[in-house]
Amino acid sequence: MKVRFWGVRGSIPVPGPATNRYGGNTSCVEVRPHNQPPIIIDAGTGLRRLGKSLMEEAFGDGKGKASILISHTHWDHVQGLPFFSPLYRAGNQVDIYARQRDMHLEAVFSAQNRAPYFPVPLAALEGEMRFHELIEGAKFQIGNAKVSCTRLNHPWIAIAYRVEVDGAAVVYCADTAPFTDVLLGREFVHKAPSLDEQLPAAVAAELAEMRAGVIALARNADLLIYDTQFSKDEYRQRPHWGHSHPDDAIAIAREAGAKRLCLFHHAPLRSDDENDRILAEYRGVVIAQNEKFELMSAYEGLEVTLGDDA
Ligand SMILES: [Zn+2]
Ligand SMILES: [Zn+2]
Repeated sequence: MKVRFWGVRGSIPVPGPATNRYGGNTSCVEVRPHNQPPIIIDAGTGLRRLGKSLMEEAFGDGKGKASILISHTHWDHVQGLPFFSPLYRAGNQVDIYARQRDMHLEAVFSAQNRAPYFPVPLAALEGEMRFHELIEGAKFQIGNAKVSCTRLNHPWIAIAYRVEVDGAAVVYCADTAPFTDVLLGREFVHKAPSLDEQLPAAVAAELAEMRAGVIALARNADLLIYDTQFSKDEYRQRPHWGHSHPDDAIAIAREAGAKRLCLFHHAPLRSDDENDRILAEYRGVVIAQNEKFELMSAYEGLEVTLGDDA
């Protein structure tokens, strides 16, 4: 399989001279199994260019099939969907998988395609869209690919995915806070909690279970893509925002036995030079700690070949 990055940014698109090399588009990763339709993870603004590229293939003739796995429906993970060209061509089929609380998925996605936010309602799209609601711990098959998921520590809800095909596994883990200081979910957390107080036992147990789920999902992954929006200091100031940092990602990759760790969901403020510096610094850490995996940092256009294709 080939894994290609179309959007690597968190929160909001940030085009401009300081972000040209890593790219300013929000989260979108294409997993392309050998001779099979694409499995797309997240529909941030990077999805627009992926859609244009797919129109050069079967999608241009209305014969394309794609699946989109949504980690969660925050804007930076869904905003590219209204601009996904394959949906505007009759005959194309797009299957959307996501987990949501309280609302039906179709209602969630209709909302962003409706006035006053967008002129074209979902019902007016020519392509066929099918929605698949996921439950906790869902496992399913897309073509030859085995897909599984687990819950993350993020406001409202977010899930990580593992896609296994062509003798390799890629794991996508965005967005999540570490599993140590605050439990995020349905309730909005207004203020940064104190990081020095001990958590109630039930909360600590729930977080530990979530972390164990992530380690199991990432077990022996050939590529682990992980939310590292924050530095360690930035995390300490905003533990309730639901994002992690490279030290935490490294600990998860080590415990899971991942073969490659990819820093992802870069902060909007992070310049290319800062991203270079963070990668260089943590490559030093990985060597000093004698970690067994390779460290990389996601940029638009990065392509990683895994498994039988490699
Ligand atoms: Zn995000
Ligand atoms: Zn989010």
